[in-house]
Amino acid sequence: MATQDVTPLDVERIRADFPILEREIDGQQLVYLDNAATSQTPERVIDAISDYYREYNANVHRGIHQLSQEASIAYEEAHDRVAEFVGADGREEIVFTGNTTEAMNTVGYAWGLNELGPGDEVVLTEMEHHASLVTWQQIAKLTGAECKYIPITDEGYLDMEAAAELITDDTEMVSVVHVSNTLGTVNPVSELADIAHDHDSLIFVDGAQSVPHQPVDVEAMDCDFFAFSGHKMCGPTGIGALYGKEHILEEMEPYSYGGDMILKVTFEDSQWNELPWKFEAGTPNIADGIAFAEACDYLDDIGLERIHRHGQQLAEYAYDRLTEWDDVEVYGPPGDDRAGLVAFNLETTHAHDLSSILNDYAVAIRAGDHCTQPLHDVLGTAASARASFYLYNTREEVDALVEAIDEARQLFA
Ligand code: PMP
Repeated sequence: MATQDVTPLDVERIRADFPILEREIDGQQLVYLDNAATSQTPERVIDAISDYYREYNANVHRGIHQLSQEASIAYEEAHDRVAEFVGADGREEIVFTGNTTEAMNTVGYAWGLNELGPGDEVVLTEMEHHASLVTWQQIAKLTGAECKYIPITDEGYLDMEAAAELITDDTEMVSVVHVSNTLGTVNPVSELADIAHDHDSLIFVDGAQSVPHQPVDVEAMDCDFFAFSGHKMCGPTGIGALYGKEHILEEMEPYSYGGDMILKVTFEDSQWNELPWKFEAGTPNIADGIAFAEACDYLDDIGLERIHRHGQQLAEYAYDRLTEWDDVEVYGPPGDDRAGLVAFNLETTHAHDLSSILNDYAVAIRAGDHCTQPLHDVLGTAASARASFYLYNTREEVDALVEAIDEARQLFA
């Protein structure tokens, strides 16, 4: 991807869009570096939510009164907007879910329970988030299928030779994280899609950490399913999306039943609604769905290439500064080949203690296993600290992080 020539972000202007960045913690300016967990929300996305509740709050699809029609149009068009954002054909291919995890479970239950059986294999990676790992592990248990894991190299890349051996004609699903939320590795998902399709397997890509930070085109990638969350891309919590190729979603049975997802119901049987509504049972998350589309507009107005480059530069800078110290271990690929996050450990200090000390300096990072416990087993540690960057972060904030870490190093030396 050509990211070298993009115009740098005007970060000061961008910061003004996010009211929360004005916050102080105990009199100190907040330094928010926990964006891989949840990003902050710009004013216009907050407005989209409050406009809905102030002006046209009503249930969708059902009413023919004015408010319901306005809400229905906005909610349905939000699907088109989100589809466009990731290069899908249209609303038929975008199911709104609560988050990435629910998108995973939708495919696990709706596709996996029906399609998998003894002798079938699901191939995942050692760097999967629990959202996909636990889902496929449990669906495999229910169906008698088996999960296999593509190992990672010492540098935190996928071992593609092993991948080529693990994906066979027994493979029914390859489920791979696009960007690792712990290692910052960007995985070669198109290549994996080719390997999967050569063996007549489907491929599910977890895009929770890619969609917020880089241009994504699901058609060019040729994945069969793709999942992401609104709250990591300047949108609200409680909304996410499942992309699925139309012909696959068409053939899939829904697993959640009730109102809105049906076309006709008798005492004996029911017929399903058209896509994507057959997978959205009950009253959906209307306000957040509409605001999700607003977040797409916001990110597109700034430009995903520019956001991508900015995150990479901050991560590289953080990587370079942290690796100056011998008592710090940074996980994952080299600084110039990673997404906008850095997970690390100090020799002397547990990640939780470090995070707590950093909080005293108003620096918000994450400590723990980042929902990748098996990956942490491979890395030989139970937990790590993680700083993750977004479009409103600055080099000065990386400096604040590094200075606060240095204080912790000296405290525990
Ligand atoms: N996959 C990855 C790579 C993630 O980073 C996350 C969020 N930490 C998820 C899946 C799950 O996202 P959500 O909690 O929004 O379902």
